[in-house]
Amino acid sequence: MSLPIIWWRSAYDDQVHAFPLGQITEVDRRTLSARCTHSAPKELIVDTAEGMKCMRCILLVGAELPDPYQRAS
Ligand SMILES: [Zn+2]
Repeated sequence: MSLPIIWWRSAYDDQVHAFPLGQITEVDRRTLSARCTHSAPKELIVDTAEGMKCMRCILLVGAELPDPYQRAS
């Protein structure tokens, strides 16, 4: 499964989550749901990948592991 995703920060929990790109282009959508099921109102999503990445999103997307020792066993 390799849906296109984008890393954006949620001001809701101050973590960078992987959001499915398809959701962002849906104009009517009020709430975005990240891969880890974190959801936040669109206005709280910050257009930046700067910050601490959500560990669950990283594992779900299976890429960009910040530290090999943090891999799930
Ligand atoms: Zn997440």
